[in-house]
Parts: sequence; C-alpha cells; structure tokens
Amino acid sequence: MAKTIAIIGGGIVGLSHAWAAARSGARVLLFERSPVAAGSSVRNFGMVWPIGQPRGAWHQLALRSRQLWLEILSDAKIWYDPSGSLHLAYREDERAVLMEFIQQAPADGYDCQWLDKSQVLDRSRAAQPRGLVGGMWSPTEVCVDPRQVTRELPKYLAEKWGVELHYGTGIESVTPTLVTATDGRQWGVDGVIVASGAELRSLYSDVLESAGGFRLCKLQMLRTAPQPNGWRMGPMLAGGLTLRHYPTFKHCKSLVALKHRIATESPLLDQYGIHVMASQTAAGEITLGDSHEYDAAIEPFDKEVINDLMLAELRGLIRLPDFAIAERWHGIYASRTEAPMFLHEPEAGVLLTISTGGCGMTMSFGLAEQNIASWLGSQKVHKPATAATI
Ligand SMILES: Cc1cc2nc3c(=O)[nH]c(=O)nc-3n(C[C@H](O)[C@H](O)[C@H](O)COP(=O)(O)OP(=O)(O)OC[C@H]3O[C@@H](n4cnc5c(N)ncnc54)[C@H](O)[C@@H]3O)c2cc1C
Repeated sequence: MAKTIAIIGGGIVGLSHAWAAARSGARVLLFERSPVAAGSSVRNFGMVWPIGQPRGAWHQLALRSRQLWLEILSDAKIWYDPSGSLHLAYREDERAVLMEFIQQAPADGYDCQWLDKSQVLDRSRAAQPRGLVGGMWSPTEVCVDPRQVTRELPKYLAEKWGVELHYGTGIESVTPTLVTATDGRQWGVDGVIVASGAELRSLYSDVLESAGGFRLCKLQMLRTAPQPNGWRMGPMLAGGLTLRHYPTFKHCKSLVALKHRIATESPLLDQYGIHVMASQTAAGEITLGDSHEYDAAIEPFDKEVINDLMLAELRGLIRLPDFAIAERWHGIYASRTEAPMFLHEPEAGVLLTISTGGCGMTMSFGLAEQNIASWLGSQKVHKPATAATI
C-alpha cells in the first residue's frame, strides 16, 4: 500500500518535495499555514539561476533542477521565460573576472561566452550602453513568476498528482506517524517532511538550535509597474557587484582586486550586502534587488538608504522605459553554510529540509528528487493520479 507522507510548508521546498513524493508513489498531504504561501518563495526574483552555483556537484544539481522545472512548468502550463542571463561589465576589473571565469568555464561544465558591447546590446534592450565594456552570456537561466508558481503549482499537484492540499492549516506538532494542527485536527501518516523555511522556531526548534550555525538574512526588493506596450527586457541581468556575491566566481584570482575596489569606493554596498539584479514577471513588471542584512541587523522596517543605493546601481546597469517603483518589500531566508539545504532526520520517519543560501528557487526540484529517492528509498516513477482520485 502507498505510504502517506505529510509535507509541512507550501513554499517551493514543500511543493517540490510534494511533487517528488507523489511521483514516487506516495499519498501526499500538504499543509500550509497561510491561505496562500507568503514566505520567501513568493518574495523572490523568480530566478532559476544555475550560473550562481559553484562548479561541481551543486552546479550539476542546479542544471538537473532547471530541467525538472521546465518539464513541470510545461506540463502545468505555468508561464516561464528561458531567457538566459547576462553579467554586464562596466569596469576593467569586472571584465577581468568574467574573462578569467569564461576561460575555465568549459572545463568546469558551464556553457557561457564573452560578448562585446555591440553583441550585448543586440541581445539585451535593457543593458545600459553608457560605459558598457561587454558581458558574459549564459543560456541556462530561467525566469519564473513567484506569485504564479506559489498559486498555480499547488493546483497542478492536486489535479495531476493527487496531492491533498490543506491550506490555512498551521501544524503545531508532528511525530513520524501523527500530524496535529493548531485547531486540534489530526492526521495519521507514515512519514513527515518539514519544509518550514526561515521559520526556525516553527517545528523541531530544539533540533535546529542544537545543530547551530543558522543565520537569518533579510533582503530588500523593488518592483516596477508593467513596462509599457508589452516591452520585454530579454535576458535577466546582473552586474559587477554580483561577482563578489555568488560562490561561482570565488576561485577567480582577479576577484580580489574587484572586491578591494568596491570596498574602498563604496563601503555602504558591502555594509548592506548589496548586489543588483533584474528579472521580469509574466505581466511585464521588472523585479529589482537586493541587499543582505543578517541577524541582529534585521529590523521590521525597510531602509530607504538601501533602496536608494540599489536604484543608483541599477540605473548604471539597466535602462527601462519606465523605472517608477510600484512595490517595495523584503524577504527573509535562513542561511547556514554554502550548502543549499540543511537536511536532518531528528527521528526515523521525519525529515527536516531547510533551504539555506538563498537559492531555493534554483535548487528545489533537483534537491527534492534526490531527497525523496534516498529517503523513501524509491527511484520509481509512478503514473500521476487522475483528478478523480483526489
Ligand atoms: C527576497 C528574496 C529573493 C530571492 N531570490 C531568489 C531567486 O531569484 N532564486 C533563487 O533560487 N532563490 C531565491 N531566493 C531564495 C528562495 O526564495 C528560498 O530559498 C526559497 O523560497 C525557500 O523556500 P521554502 O519553501 O523553504 O520557504 P518559504 O517559501 O518561506 O515557505 C515556508 C512555508 O512554510 C510555512 N510554514 C512554516 N511553519 C509552518 C507550520 N508549522 N505549519 C504550516 N505551515 C508552516 C510558511 O507559512 C511558509 O509558507 C530569494 C529569497 C529572498 C528572500
């Protein structure tokens, strides 16, 4: 008989594990406290960003995750844009890091190339031409719309894979065989996956505390209104500041000079962990960000100084028909080591899956496939349930 697995959390980690568990033949119950998930999975750029993963196993897993995303989004008929990405260079030290990276890239398994200024401008109508030296093109990045994904993916999981959705249901406690909601309702199960995101005090807080090393990270974000006349930006964009943010570039010797220049020229960018990127939603809005403030520096209120710094950097990188900001918000994720997920079995039959490192959108499906295969001990792919079996 099929095992019944409860998943706690309707963010992308919970959704991807629900998909992987259902695909492996389990009956899946998904519990989410809010009527619609409102954690970091709906607050992000929607960047599926393999180029941000360091060479080796994590990068390979990110590429697998991307492939799964594409299969699932196509099957679910949810919008996505396989736009690829451009890292733009405006300074000689930025060009040096990108060239060093590109030279080594084929051996490291990355598919990317240097474009000169005119080639960049042919590919991107959003790249700011003033001072542009060139850029690195990578075809592997995919843009999804976080608001659509968090709303539409659960429906797809229910209709296609028979996942039973329990939104608006906060879970107070779990054992390997029993899930108890805050209103006292209970469900008997054969196993539980906790995917509670940055809510480290939600379930098994004692276990997470004794594991140690967790930090919370707050990111400020901005969004324009839809760009006029259906204007699309093309590839998602990043710049020189991003080269010091992702572990992808950390082996580049020329990164030292770039980091030194930024620290000397603009210490506030380091203080607030600012690097800037842009993606575009299905409706045409441009999502812009971000900053990184940790633990004690995190306040409930957003800092306008951070927004101003980000916008100044973004205007040097990006030109838009309409730069007016329509929405501002922040999100919080848990970080730990560079590994993209904290995995722990506090007791047999319960798996804690905390996405760490700010790359949960990119890595979720690849990690979920791997985790379910080893945890449920099955690589078997079952036929999806029909809507009638829900
Ligand atoms: C601003 C920002 C931008 C980012 N940009 C990107 C990006 O572009 N690309 C990328 O790869 N990554 C990005 N990330 C990281 C990515 O968004 C996260 O890694 C990912 O969303 C984490 O997903 P999650 O499911 O673990 O957490 P969440 O999305 O926070 O979901 C956890 C869910 O669990 C629920 N929950 C918790 N406890 C309980 C309980 N007891 N009972 C019921 N429900 C419960 C919560 O309500 C919540 O909905 C970004 C993060 C932020 C904050």
